[in-house]
Amino acid sequence: MIQKAQFVISNSNPGNCPKPDRAEIAFIGRSNVGKSSLINRITGKSDLAKTSQKPGKTQLINHFIINDRWYLVDLPGYGFAKVNVKVKQGWESMISTYLTKRENLCGVFVLIDSRLEPQKIDLEFLLWCGTEGVPAALVFTKADKQSKTKTDQNIRKFLKKTEEIFEEIPDYFVTSAESGLGKDELTAFIEELVQE
Ligand code: GDP
Repeated sequence: MIQKAQFVISNSNPGNCPKPDRAEIAFIGRSNVGKSSLINRITGKSDLAKTSQKPGKTQLINHFIINDRWYLVDLPGYGFAKVNVKVKQGWESMISTYLTKRENLCGVFVLIDSRLEPQKIDLEFLLWCGTEGVPAALVFTKADKQSKTKTDQNIRKFLKKTEEIFEEIPDYFVTSAESGLGKDELTAFIEELVQE
């Protein structure tokens, strides 16, 4: 159960993140995938993460402390349509440093829009995680937006692609920030990760 969630700090330099003395999990995904909404839903705080950040806004690593015990991190989204090369390179360097060097990181949740067919950018990012040994799990978002049949279809296709990449199917969750679908399963999984 998440009882308490507080903002700690935002950083553009991974080296300035809080001391890695507690378990940490992170959320990442394409911009507009529903990351902020999901973080707000699972923490029960409607304004914890800022929803619908505009492209070009400073891209920051946001630390929150949960139940006074572990860190939840909101990472800047990827795949803005209109982002300049410099911003993109800045993102890549910041994110790759954070994901490969953060020693207390127990899990990274990669958010995938359940409305869409498998997207190249998500698969490429997952491939990179696999190569770098980043412990990624999948979170399909916005499941309330279409029929269960359509959601299941898209998820099946996506999992088939990830199986080709990883030779196994990663842990995955089907969620809706709108209805709360999947919240309990995802929270229980995170709590296990941060307790280990
Ligand atoms: P972010 O850019 O990944 O942080 O995405 P946001 O959380 O800001 O969400 C982008 C848009 O999708 C917003 O208009 C949200 O209201 C909407 N949204 C996010 N999650 C859901 C969901 O589970 N269901 C529905 N119907 N809309 C959602």
